Amino acid sequence: MKDPFSIEDKVTIITGGGTGIGASIAHEFASRGARLLIASRKLSHLEPVRDEIRKAGGKCEMAQCDVRDPAACEATIATAVRHFGRLDVLINNHGGSIAARSLDLSPNGWGAVVGINLNGTFFASKAAARQFIKQNTGGVIINMSTYLALRASPMAASYAAAKSAVINLTKSHASEWGGFGIRVNCIVPGPIETEAAAARGWGNPDLRAKVGRTRALGRLGRVGEIAYPCIFLASDAASYISGAMLVIDGGTAPRGE
Ligand code: NAP
Repeated sequence: MKDPFSIEDKVTIITGGGTGIGASIAHEFASRGARLLIASRKLSHLEPVRDEIRKAGGKCEMAQCDVRDPAACEATIATAVRHFGRLDVLINNHGGSIAARSLDLSPNGWGAVVGINLNGTFFASKAAARQFIKQNTGGVIINMSTYLALRASPMAASYAAAKSAVINLTKSHASEWGGFGIRVNCIVPGPIETEAAAARGWGNPDLRAKVGRTRALGRLGRVGEIAYPCIFLASDAASYISGAMLVIDGGTAPRGE
């Protein structure tokens, strides 16, 4: 009997798969036999991950894609299909923010953050859904939001608003595409240790400790702690889960945030 938790052979696209959480998802999926295409703007981010996965015996291709461009999203789906014959899973892991007060954020800055996080998720999801419908196989989409989407986020209003919209988009797409056997879910990470997060300030031990104290578990999360739930959501074990929001934030500390 096939293990319902298996993701073996599942053809999976991971946007932002060359760094941080996305790279961890790529390694964990590849080591369980998924066939991958990792995609983002910079080939210099993707190449090392692709090469490490291949060296370990996994299957991984890469594609340059700016998710703000609908044609690039369609081309990325087509590339995965050309390599592997079909698509099973799309993980919209890409993301980007600008730390600025709303009064200081330019229209361009606002547009870039909404463009990456919200428009990019919409364009990639639409392209994937069209492929799933064409195949008549169903499919899985996993979107990446943030815990900042669930509360006021001074200095990150554009990011929090766009990621909040990703949660709503998840529910609408789950509703629109459920009839085609497509499941759409959203992961809502709390503070996770990545290079990008360290560069934004969590490299500072005092700040890390302060952020850690806001969590019930008293620490920041690790990239694998986001990757493992992605494996579950991509697998048949999650076959009745759609339109859901899975908050992975270590819980809220007793004294709140
Ligand atoms: P990261 O390393 O900066 O990952 C972001 C990825 O998105 C990069 O690989 C980047 O690759 C890609 N990307 C950015 N703009 C893109 C675009 N226009 N088109 C295609 N790809 C694009 O940060 P991370 O911490 O691993 O974050 C991964 C996801 O988790 C993001 O959605 C983030 O918002 C979310 N998240 C992170 C945390 C955290 O604490 N780390 C917390 C909550 C949510 P290129 O530069 O090569 O394009």
